[in-house]
Amino acid sequence: MTPNLDESKKLKIIDGKWLSAWILNSVRTTTKALGERHSIKPGLGVILVGENPASKTYVASKEKTAHDCGFETFDAKLPSDATFEQVSDVIERFNQDPNIHGILMQLPLPKHLDSEKLLDKIRPDKDADGLHPDNQGELMRGKGNLRPCTPLGAMRLIDLALSGVDTFRSSPTEIPPSTIPEQSLAGKKAVVIGRSILVGKPAALLLLERNATVTIAHSKSANLPELCRDADIVVAAVGIPKLVKRNWIKPGAIVIDVGINRIPETGKLCGDVDFEDVIEVAGKITPVPGGAGPMTIAMLILNTYRACLTLNGIKDE
Ligand code: NAD
Repeated sequence: MTPNLDESKKLKIIDGKWLSAWILNSVRTTTKALGERHSIKPGLGVILVGENPASKTYVASKEKTAHDCGFETFDAKLPSDATFEQVSDVIERFNQDPNIHGILMQLPLPKHLDSEKLLDKIRPDKDADGLHPDNQGELMRGKGNLRPCTPLGAMRLIDLALSGVDTFRSSPTEIPPSTIPEQSLAGKKAVVIGRSILVGKPAALLLLERNATVTIAHSKSANLPELCRDADIVVAAVGIPKLVKRNWIKPGAIVIDVGINRIPETGKLCGDVDFEDVIEVAGKITPVPGGAGPMTIAMLILNTYRACLTLNGIKDE
């Protein structure tokens, strides 16, 4: 992940791979218990339209993780010229299938398909990505069971950063469940860069729910570096490689890099944060890859598990 860092810098890393393994361990255990007590297996329905290589990789990784946790998966792979009605029919079939508890429609869809209209057709109680307007409305109200995965993952990364758990020296299996509680962010200033429905806006609402004082910055914001310098927590969800620099960050701040960008010259992935530069001043920072990415998948699995409990009328397991 970050082989050339000295130990003091390694200790600053918020390890998304470690945290997702820790969360998925506990999902695996509770899924086993669910099967033994109620003969129920969580089911994830996956819709992939077209041949986008990144989407194919993400879907394969999500399905593998679901299987590793003891879930069943249900595939619908449609050609890139699939019609709105064809995708809609699959959503309807998944909505009706009692073995499917979470539905994931991998985005982006080919341009001729209206993603929003299709997302609206997913049953809100099976909306594993938390993108249905009912679930987004619930989030606005500070309620709801299914929240968008990437911002949820970002929140848990902040929890890990504040928990004091040493992920550098301990394996996820050594740390008992509930050791990384949801933290209050009262009195802390947070800046979210980006205002998309997928990441920026829900991340801001989740931070607000934890009592942080939140600023949402975006492409039309003035003095972005200055806004960020005031923050105890910076969440970057922009899509511009290495936009955030060292002099944007208050010493000791927590930096969550949601961006996934491919550098054309090298083909390597990088985030929206200039990691090598920013780690010099940040208190804690997520790497790319290995930060927000694995957590998005873990939260998809957790959402599907939660939806499975709700759909089966089970309180908690
Ligand atoms: P988006 O294009 O929908 O939104 C980008 C946001 O950045 C916009 O709100 C825009 O106002 C803002 N922005 C653009 N230029 C800016 C600038 N110069 N200064 C400040 N703000 C600026 O993208 P998105 O879907 O929110 O994704 C953002 C990034 O996160 C992308 O790199 C994407 O690949 C990544 N992402 C990662 C995951 C994951 O699992 N880790 C999930 C979703 C998205």
